Amino acid sequence: MKVRHVLGISGGKDSAALSIYLKGKYPDLDIDYYNSDTGCELEETELLISRLESVLGPITKLRAAQGSPEPTPFHHFLKASGGYLPSPQARWCTQKMKLAEFEKYVGDEPTISYVGIRGDEDREGYVSTKPNIQAIFPFRKNIWSLDVINKVLQNQVIADIAELYKKICPSAMLAEALQIVERPISKEFYYGKKMNALLDLDVKTFNKVVFNFLKTTDYPVGKLDYFPLVENEDILGIKDIYDILENSGVGVPAYYKPIPFEVDGKQGTYCRSRSGCYFCFFQQKIEWIWLYEQHPDLFQKSMEFEKGGYTWIQGESLSDLIKPERIRQIKLDAIKKQEAKAKKERSSLLVDILGDDDNDAFCANCFI
Ligand code: SF4
Repeated sequence: MKVRHVLGISGGKDSAALSIYLKGKYPDLDIDYYNSDTGCELEETELLISRLESVLGPITKLRAAQGSPEPTPFHHFLKASGGYLPSPQARWCTQKMKLAEFEKYVGDEPTISYVGIRGDEDREGYVSTKPNIQAIFPFRKNIWSLDVINKVLQNQVIADIAELYKKICPSAMLAEALQIVERPISKEFYYGKKMNALLDLDVKTFNKVVFNFLKTTDYPVGKLDYFPLVENEDILGIKDIYDILENSGVGVPAYYKPIPFEVDGKQGTYCRSRSGCYFCFFQQKIEWIWLYEQHPDLFQKSMEFEKGGYTWIQGESLSDLIKPERIRQIKLDAIKKQEAKAKKERSSLLVDILGDDDNDAFCANCFI
């Protein structure tokens, strides 16, 4: 059965690096690359996508609301919603402009969607609830999604998994593997712990067992004769992502580059931490100030959307945000936060410090 392979290019660094990585390491995987175009991206994002096309070939642009008289898909849906701006609680923008288009693009064919969540991140990436779409995370030690892990490690299939280990596992480690496999999931030995124990023992064997188990299910990966990712033991973190982008000649999108600022004699830096629409409500206040100072035209456009009491930031309008005293305060807060986090965090990269903040309420379609 034909299984399709797709990879969404969000305009962020991680999906860009993943596309280059897979193209280089698995040239035989026939991957369709796509980008969901909201019409409201930063020009740096558009530049990144055109550079990527020189490495990958054409990237399909998915654009919602084709034929609408409005200038962008966002304008179209905003008008339809009566000017009600999207927010983290009412994220209609992603649903209408990205997820719905993605699901239309994929249709009902079994599809594997590659997602660039890094090996040094601790989060899951939402892709789709459609059963014919399966997410794979090639940068992580565990390439499988949570639902797959839960199916493979549930107590009801212990005997089946043990049988697969007996067939696949090298004999030198079989006894140890079976000890782990046959220990049931419990409060003390939860899914994550069992998965890590099996991955620590041997990644390839675990992946081959999962692959064979999926053959008994409807998951798209199970419909393949061979899946090269089961052999993959790479774990890629933030530094690897930067290296891939730089070494490929594509480069890191310019909005990630820290720009210095000074306030009250103190030095700080700001940048934009994620791709996505220029007015994205997920950006932090210091990123709004970056937009105001580095892209005043886009800030102005963002302000124009704030009508009828709707604001991008809860409880504060953009016109209040750019009052000089407020800018000063936001910059001082940003310096303090960056200093504290840089001491604590493994990575001192500004994009990571900024990008770390709101409990990963994001999805692959906008920011990875
Ligand atoms: S980038 Fe932000 S505003 Fe744009 S679609 Fe995604 S969540 Fe919505």
